Amino acid sequence: MTLDARIPAGPLAEKWSNAKFEMKLVAPQNRRKFDIIVVGTGLAGGAAAATLGEMGYNVKVFCYQDSPRRAHSIAAQGGINAAKNYQNDGDSVHRLFYDTIKGGDYRAREANVHRLAEISLQIIDQCVSQGVPFAREYGGLLDNRSFGGAQVSRTFYARGQTGQQLLLGAYQALERQIDAGTVQMYTRHEMLELVVEDGRAVGIITRDLVSGAIERHAAHAVVLGTGGYGNVFYLSTNAKGSNATAIWRAHRKGAYFANPCYTQIHPTCIPVSGEYQSKLTLMSESLRNDGRIWVPKDKDDRRAPNQIPAEERDYYLERIYPSFANLVPRDVASRAAKRMVDDGFGVGPLKNGVYLDFKTAIERLGRNVIEERYGNLFDMYENISGENPYEVPMRIYPAVHYTMGGLWVDYSLMSNLPGLFVIGEANFSDHGANRLGASALMQGLADGYFILPTTIAGELANHLGTPAPSPDSAAFQEAEDAVRARTEKLLSIKGSRTVDSFHKELGKILWEYVGMARNAAGLKHAREEVIKLREEFWRDVKVLGDGESFNQSLERAGRVADFFELAELLCQDALAREESCGGHFREEHQTAEGEAKRDDDNFAYVSAWEFNGPGKDATLHKEDLVFENVHLAQRSYK
Ligand SMILES: Cc1cc2nc3c(=O)[nH]c(=O)nc-3n(C[C@H](O)[C@H](O)[C@H](O)COP(=O)(O)OP(=O)(O)OC[C@H]3O[C@@H](n4cnc5c(N)ncnc54)[C@H](O)[C@@H]3O)c2cc1C
Repeated sequence: MTLDARIPAGPLAEKWSNAKFEMKLVAPQNRRKFDIIVVGTGLAGGAAAATLGEMGYNVKVFCYQDSPRRAHSIAAQGGINAAKNYQNDGDSVHRLFYDTIKGGDYRAREANVHRLAEISLQIIDQCVSQGVPFAREYGGLLDNRSFGGAQVSRTFYARGQTGQQLLLGAYQALERQIDAGTVQMYTRHEMLELVVEDGRAVGIITRDLVSGAIERHAAHAVVLGTGGYGNVFYLSTNAKGSNATAIWRAHRKGAYFANPCYTQIHPTCIPVSGEYQSKLTLMSESLRNDGRIWVPKDKDDRRAPNQIPAEERDYYLERIYPSFANLVPRDVASRAAKRMVDDGFGVGPLKNGVYLDFKTAIERLGRNVIEERYGNLFDMYENISGENPYEVPMRIYPAVHYTMGGLWVDYSLMSNLPGLFVIGEANFSDHGANRLGASALMQGLADGYFILPTTIAGELANHLGTPAPSPDSAAFQEAEDAVRARTEKLLSIKGSRTVDSFHKELGKILWEYVGMARNAAGLKHAREEVIKLREEFWRDVKVLGDGESFNQSLERAGRVADFFELAELLCQDALAREESCGGHFREEHQTAEGEAKRDDDNFAYVSAWEFNGPGKDATLHKEDLVFENVHLAQRSYK
């Protein structure tokens, strides 16, 4: 099957305007006739629900936390991109478009990325109007800093807590609609199944995480803004609760999963310190504006970092990539760090990190400037590592951070299942094989505030006069029965191993064979191991408690069960993509310098997988990527 992304006709810069003009509308007085479910209250879901409510639709919004403002988006640190060109350093919509396409290693759709760059301008205006306290320069203008993969400064920020401030903006907009009665908020509700009737998404089944009640919710359309699946690797920078269940359940019901193997490994995280760790911590990419990355030239150098003179240090990013230096994109920086550590140049007690050093910046700018820019990140580092980064360099190493893959969507952000829309990190849409820093917040808010509220009308307009689907239908009954049966099954196993022990073992397999470097033999082996472990999980997992009360062990068990199936698909996708691109590095496909080597003749497509059952090969559908506005080239940051 060839997938139709329904990209509008016309020149690149006019596609979104054309689409908006040609799309059907729902008149204001008709919007209250439509019910819309939004799952997720992060930047994508929160922005979408607030906007749809403001427009006059009846919205039900769900999250599993106790408050919408605890969504994982709150953790975002460094900033959000926009092509405002406030710095007058040559930025433009076209440059942001170009940087993003190149940064994604030419594996994203041109039309989506251009639209994203256009909308980036509106996002900043919208957030400033809401009162988001972006950093300002002395004269009062909004300040910018640089992020990887760009030679301009276009990243807007609020110290090291940009996600928190943006989410507070979206949350206030959402609360306003809740108060106005256009949005009904369901906290502590987990979507456990998508309901599909006659090929169309018509609702969801949820579990009230406090009372255990299983509930049915019907609507004319379902929007998933449920975040990324990096926690499939167990150790990641994601919030511990982030999971894939919503998108995986939709995938099992027919929604295609695109590019699952495109995982972003972020270069600046605090290195693993021991076996009992359950979480990794990001040190924002913004630190690479002022921090210099190095390792000792002598791999046996045991001196404290400050004792090692400049000429005995290898500032390897500055040496290998003089044009972008410490601000090369994440995939490039991560692989370079891995090479250093693999070659024995690692630092720290476990020799598993590289230095990120602020000494030169502190000497040049003063400690107060560094504190103003990154104070909360430095505090966080000191609390975790016990070392003061104003005095000794930070130690960093790559960690799983973001997933570029997700449910396949067309240009209007609708999946191949009519009525099911997917936004934010949960879809695959805009970042190709590698996301540039500060672009996830941009995409989540573009999707939530601007794109989805426009495109969903184009779909709903076809259903004017159609009553909302009934929650009493056979499709709802079947979906509810499936949720109950699965819950009972998990509780009845009463095995000997905890959910976490399975999750940890799964993560180790993935990190080892499907992490920063992959090869055919390793991927085949990993898939077999994942299948074996999944079978053991369903024989021997121990889930305490019952289904009629607050039970976090049960919640986690369901999520890990879905991670197992997703992990298998990850291996299958990584094995099928016989090239290296962005975050997907196949050892068999590299340049003489060890960089990713794409195969545009054979792999310039989006892989969209159809589910056939656990343990069975998924079916591959391809969406060819057509590049009419950029020239495909070997990515170089030298
Ligand atoms: C530490 C860290 C720092 C980052 N810093 C930056 C940065 O500076 N700039 C940048 O651009 N990006 C950054 N990112 C990436 C960015 O934060 C995320 O990609 C983005 O916030 C995801 O937003 P989202 O709305 O798609 O999902 P999320 O914020 O993850 O929200 C998911 C929502 O879905 C709900 N949900 C999920 N599953 C279910 C279910 N089954 N039932 C009910 N509800 C469900 C959750 O409750 C939550 O409300 C960072 C990421 C991390 C990990």
